[in-house]
Amino acid sequence: MAQLPSRELDTPTFRLAMSQFDEAASLMALDPDLRERLKFPQRSLAVSVPVRMDDGHVEVFTGYRVQHDSSRGPSKGGIRFHPDVNLGEVAALAMWMTWKCALADLPYGGAKGGVAVAPKRLSRGELQRLTRRYAAEIFPLIGPDKDVPAPDVGTDAQVMAWIMDTYSQQVGFSVPGVVTGKPLSIGGSLGREEATGRGVVYVTLEALRHLNLDIRNTTVAIQGFGNVGSHTARIMHECGARIVAVSDVNGGIYNPKGIDIPTLLAGYKDAGRSLAAMNLGEALSNDELLQLDCTVLIPAALSEQITERNATRLKCRILSEGANGPTTLEADRIIQDMGIFVIPDILANSGGVIVSYFEWVQDAQRFFWKASDIQNRLRDLMTSAFARTMEFAALKRTSMRMAALMSGIDKVAQAHSHRGLYP
Ligand code: NAD
Repeated sequence: MAQLPSRELDTPTFRLAMSQFDEAASLMALDPDLRERLKFPQRSLAVSVPVRMDDGHVEVFTGYRVQHDSSRGPSKGGIRFHPDVNLGEVAALAMWMTWKCALADLPYGGAKGGVAVAPKRLSRGELQRLTRRYAAEIFPLIGPDKDVPAPDVGTDAQVMAWIMDTYSQQVGFSVPGVVTGKPLSIGGSLGREEATGRGVVYVTLEALRHLNLDIRNTTVAIQGFGNVGSHTARIMHECGARIVAVSDVNGGIYNPKGIDIPTLLAGYKDAGRSLAAMNLGEALSNDELLQLDCTVLIPAALSEQITERNATRLKCRILSEGANGPTTLEADRIIQDMGIFVIPDILANSGGVIVSYFEWVQDAQRFFWKASDIQNRLRDLMTSAFARTMEFAALKRTSMRMAALMSGIDKVAQAHSHRGLYP
C-alpha cells in the first residue's frame, strides 16, 4: 500500500477505495504517472462548523468537502451527516463518485462532503443553522459549474434547500443548479427522491434476466430502510418480487411469505414507527439479515457490512450494492469464489447521480421534464451501463466490480491524456 499524503486519510474506507483502484489500475496497466495522480483527491477542505445550540451554547462540528477529480467536468457528490464521517471516508466516497460518473457517461468528476454529527439529535433549528454554516464554509468550492452537492446518508431535500438558499444569498440571486435533490418548488426534478432505489431495481432486473430467474419467484432482503432501501423495497415489490426482510439501524424484520411493503411504508414513514413495532414479520438482527437464504441481497446502509467474518455465510444468488462500499476487499474475493453475481456499487446505485444530472440539466435549461421522461432515460442509461459492464467483464475475463471500475477509470484516463498536465 502506497504512502498516504495525510494520516487522516488512513481509514478502512479509504484503504478499500484505494485497493480497488490499485487492483483495477494494475489489470488495465494504467500509466504510472496518472496512477499516482488519481490515487489521492485533487482538493480536500476541512472546516469547523460552529453552531449556536437551542440552549444558547456554541458547539463546533467538523465538516469536509473533497473533490477527487474534475477532468471530465464539475465534480458531483452527496453530503453525509453522520457521527462517523471523517476525511478518509469522504475521500473514498469522492473517488467512487469519479468512477461512477464516468461509468454512467455523465460529464462530471467525483466529490463528496460531510459533517461528523448525529442529525437526529439536533432540533430542526439546530440542523438548519449547522447546514447553513457548513454551506457557507464550503462556499469557495461549490457552484453549478464547479462542484454540485446532493443528499446522502442523514441529509435530504430540505437540507439541499437550505444549502441552495445559503449559496444564493451569498451571490445575490437564485442558483438552483448549485445542488441537486432539491424540492420541486425550487428547481428539483421529478423522480429524484426515488432515483437511486429505482436504479437499483433496473439493474437487479437485468441481472435476474441474465441468470434466467423469474421475478415472481424472487426473494429479496434489504439492509437499510432510508432513502435507498425504502424506495428499492417499494419498487421491487411493485415489480412482483417478494421482500422477505428489511432492516434499519435498530434491527430488522423477516417474513418468508413476503412483507406487506405498502403498509410498512405508510406506518414507518408517516407515523414514524419502528420496523418491529409494525408486526409485519419476526424480528431479526442486521447480521442475520445478511445471511438469509434469498435470491437478492441489497445492502443499502453503510460501508463495510460484508466482511471476511460473514462473507462465507451469505446465501444470496445476487448481491446488488445499493450502499457505497458495502463489501470489503477480502469479502469480495470470497463471494466471487462462491459464484454470487455481484452488481457493484458504482453501477447499482448510480441512479441517484444520473437523475441528479437530469435535474442539473433541467435547471440549466429552465425547462422541466415529465416523470415518464425521467424514468425512461434513467432505465436507458442504467441498462446500457449494465450491458457495457457485462461485455467488458467477459472481454477482460474479470469480475463485474473490476469491469465497472476499469471502464470508469479508462474514461477518466482518456480525459487526462487529452488535457495533458498543467503547467
Ligand atoms: P439514509 O440516511 O436515508 O438511510 C440509511 C439507512 O441505513 C437508515 O434506514 C438507517 O437506519 C440505516 N442504518 C444506519 N446505520 C446502520 C447500521 N449500522 N446497520 C443497518 N442499518 C443502518 O441514507 P441513504 O441515502 O438511503 O443512503 C444509504 C446508502 O446508499 C449509503 O451508503 C449511501 O452512500 C448510498 N447512496 C445513496 C444515494 C442517495 O441518492 N441517497 C445514492 C447513491 C448511494
